[in-house]
Amino acid sequence: MKQKGNIQSNPAALLENLKAKSKREANLFFSLCENGENFTHSKKLIEALNRSGLKSNDNRLQNLFRSLEAHGDKIVFEDFINIIRTSGLLVEKALRGQLVLPDFINFSKKIDKIFDEVKTIISGELASYIPPLAEVDPNQFGIAIVTTDGQVYERGDSNKDFSIQSMCKPFNYCFAMEQLGLEGVHKHVGQEPSGRQFDDLTLLARTVTGNYTGDFAKDNLEGRFARVPFNPMVNAGAIMTAGLINPNDSHTQRLRHIRQQFGRLIGWTSKNNNVSKLPRFNKNMARQENFKGYNNIAMGYLLMATGSLPHTKSDLHKDIHPDEDEFDFYIEPAVTDALKLYFSICSIEMTATDVAMAAATLANSGVCPISQDRVLSQKTVRNCLPVLQTSGMYNASGVFFQEVGLPAKSGVGGGVLLVVPQLMGICIFSPRLDEQGNSVRGLEMAKKLTSKYLVHTFDGTMTDTSREDPKLPIARWLANSCGEAIWAASNGNIRTLESLVSQQRDLQQGDYDIRTPLHLASAEGQLEVVKFLLNQGVKPIPDRWGGYPISDARNNKHHKIVDLFNELKIDYTEPFHLVENPKGKTDKMAHFEDELMVIELLFAASKNNVDNIRHLVAQGVPVHAGDYDLRTALHLAAAEGSLDAVEYLVSHGHPLNVRDRWGATPLDEAKREKRKNVVSFLTKI
Ligand code: GLN
Repeated sequence: MKQKGNIQSNPAALLENLKAKSKREANLFFSLCENGENFTHSKKLIEALNRSGLKSNDNRLQNLFRSLEAHGDKIVFEDFINIIRTSGLLVEKALRGQLVLPDFINFSKKIDKIFDEVKTIISGELASYIPPLAEVDPNQFGIAIVTTDGQVYERGDSNKDFSIQSMCKPFNYCFAMEQLGLEGVHKHVGQEPSGRQFDDLTLLARTVTGNYTGDFAKDNLEGRFARVPFNPMVNAGAIMTAGLINPNDSHTQRLRHIRQQFGRLIGWTSKNNNVSKLPRFNKNMARQENFKGYNNIAMGYLLMATGSLPHTKSDLHKDIHPDEDEFDFYIEPAVTDALKLYFSICSIEMTATDVAMAAATLANSGVCPISQDRVLSQKTVRNCLPVLQTSGMYNASGVFFQEVGLPAKSGVGGGVLLVVPQLMGICIFSPRLDEQGNSVRGLEMAKKLTSKYLVHTFDGTMTDTSREDPKLPIARWLANSCGEAIWAASNGNIRTLESLVSQQRDLQQGDYDIRTPLHLASAEGQLEVVKFLLNQGVKPIPDRWGGYPISDARNNKHHKIVDLFNELKIDYTEPFHLVENPKGKTDKMAHFEDELMVIELLFAASKNNVDNIRHLVAQGVPVHAGDYDLRTALHLAAAEGSLDAVEYLVSHGHPLNVRDRWGATPLDEAKREKRKNVVSFLTKI
């Protein structure tokens, strides 16, 4: 956004005017207008939506785009209201920064960085036991992340089809549970981690309880022991669950059903019949795997032998062979049917974006984020995720759970999918595998992601301020980490400070100006708070201007506090504040009751995060709200040389001559910090 010439109209008057027309949408529209103009541009709205992670091909936005086209580029308030209503609450949430991943741009930049680091890893081998897998380009690397609100991040080869292989297993398990229920499925397969390779032939022995009245138990085991696959995530278990889906239909019908179910997970519905969302089937892959898939075939027979795979009810045919030495060799069709279907489903091909969408459907408790189609019941998803978490990475599952802590599934095609419940689905695709058959880069990417973000299942049990919560904008996260303590200190609220201590929060943490609880307590004469903080071992540190809390106490004539600091015998420096024209014009700043939102705004301004500022404006935070030191967003943007933020704030009516606690205006701050571009912008207005 580039500012041209002088400001002609009055943004504050515009906002009042809009509020009089419709309170609900006034701030939303205002956040997209510039310089008090009473219109915005269609491309501005589209850009804001894209920057929030919503894609132009998102089905939910098609009516909005149609309506935008009909209106042309300039949009006035009344049109804006009608246009955004075509998409329900989605657009409002996006403009307010209230989608599950609110700071999409920042998040994307961080993932980009991790991606570039991981790309340098070239260890691992292609799977070679299925011939077509040995022929893929080993250097391929892609990642896609889809949130439960349908925000999409893509990078690298995220749109290349690859063989999903074992990533089909959690979905097969879900599809089978949809038909037979939890108990029905687990008559045939266990829930225990196997701790073994994916293709291990060992089965789990378990006592058959009264519940197990299926014919497999009675016929073959006389009610004592059942031998079943350990879980649905190893081959034996997946052959089993495939065998349970629509067993009476033909192979073609069964495969069609399953492809449609996968399609629904990524946005296909029988209504839209969007065939681009029906995953491809690679027949050659299935045939090649079948040709030498002795191990899997052995497993099929083992399942039949132990009785867990339901067999067909056919009786032995009459022997019609005339030759004494000849007979019709019988192959149990239930075994071949289950294997044929299993090989076929493994040979489905999807892109990383498709798989991430399917994983996001799991994260979203079974509802596809972009079609809003309920594909799986909440119960099914809730029952699947724990098994995925404990067994999805085969014999690396334990370490993976501890380190990454997310339900995940890998496939020998090079894919890894991860589910962050209620937040997002992730798919990483890179075909080089480690000894366990897991994608090397996939694992590394997953580890780096959880070391950066608080998404591990058990992260709630620790406070780790070095990692970010992706559900919060960074500015909000920073505001949370210091704002509460600073406000409490300035208000003399020792109770709050005590509770922050018990949460092991750092009371020495400063804000965007390195102002700390000790500074504010000293400035406001909160003697008891100062004593409390010093008792907690908090040390006085200098703020942005080199000022220690003792200066705050001295300036505000709180002598007892000055004495306390003098007793510490520290060599305090004196702060330098530039105030060029102390008697000059002074503009009023706004008061906003949600103090943490104000701190968030100032952090966003200091970090030049215009998206975040725009979101806060859309939520109704006045651009010129002041904090405990009467600092405003413009002071911070000016001090940090954040020109984009300066321009946005000014064009949304931020007055120029607001003065902080020491009398400095934003221009003073820009001069003191030698921010030439900001000085020249502010002096031209
Ligand atoms: N189709 C493959 C197999 O059965 C799937 C294995 C995998 O992806 N780990 O061996």
